[in-house]
Amino acid sequence: MRLVRFGERGRERPGVLITDSEIADISGVVGDLDGRFWGEGGMGFVARELERGALGSLRRVRLDSVRLGPPVASPGKIVCVGQNYMDHIKEQNAPVPDTPILFGKAVTALNGPFDEIVLPADEDTTDWEVELAVVIGSPARRVSAEDAPAHIAGYAIMNDVTERRVQRTEKQWHRGKSFDTFAPLGPWVATPDEVGDPQALDLVLEVNGSAMQTGNTRTMIFPVPELVAFASRGMTLLPGDILSTGTPPGVGAFRDPPVFIKEGDILEAGITSLGRQRLRAVREKLPGQGE
Ligand code: ZN
Repeated sequence: MRLVRFGERGRERPGVLITDSEIADISGVVGDLDGRFWGEGGMGFVARELERGALGSLRRVRLDSVRLGPPVASPGKIVCVGQNYMDHIKEQNAPVPDTPILFGKAVTALNGPFDEIVLPADEDTTDWEVELAVVIGSPARRVSAEDAPAHIAGYAIMNDVTERRVQRTEKQWHRGKSFDTFAPLGPWVATPDEVGDPQALDLVLEVNGSAMQTGNTRTMIFPVPELVAFASRGMTLLPGDILSTGTPPGVGAFRDPPVFIKEGDILEAGITSLGRQRLRAVREKLPGQGE
């Protein structure tokens, strides 16, 4: 099952894809795709309704006729993982980490999968990071890697957009990772049955049609269940929380010479079974800068 949220920013409605191009509006059935939905069996309910054909009477919307929002509403937190792909470690000559490197990304950075990325007016080293994001489905506290998959509701594409100068010059990565619009999520959350083995997914990120990042989740240093287990050792992961699992090689900062996002660039990110995002970069205008 593939779940989406559609409609204008801040007023999205939940939907389920019934074909590759059609959404059934489930706003009358489940409210929103928030922690309550992910944690209280919302997916199972929608799946059962789909199976017995009960959603056939719902309003249908063409996927290409609406804006999509991030497919998770109001997550409590976004936890990210740094340096988790062996081939990404090699490109930066960094040592292989002994434990996962976790950091936070502000939830206010969330963005729709076809929205604009707003490049900060006073920075010029904004970079891309295509990543497999995990959506938590039930509270996880000190879970084992064996038990971790039972706490996963689904998967989505995250572009962990990053301001490199800010990331590198400030002691914490948090601000450089958290500019508004720097967390485009979606187009959809796919349930685990739809995705199969999460360690066998191809990832790609293209800038203006040229592939910059290519990779496969099999080269993760810490696979998804270990990441969920590790994060849950200290903090409770709650339904709707997002865990973004690191990026494969090819980010702009480690290219020679480095390449960063320019105004007007089109960024497309894709992962097997999870669709494709397409984002256009625009430049932030500060008050008084005019057009
Ligand atoms: Zn990242």
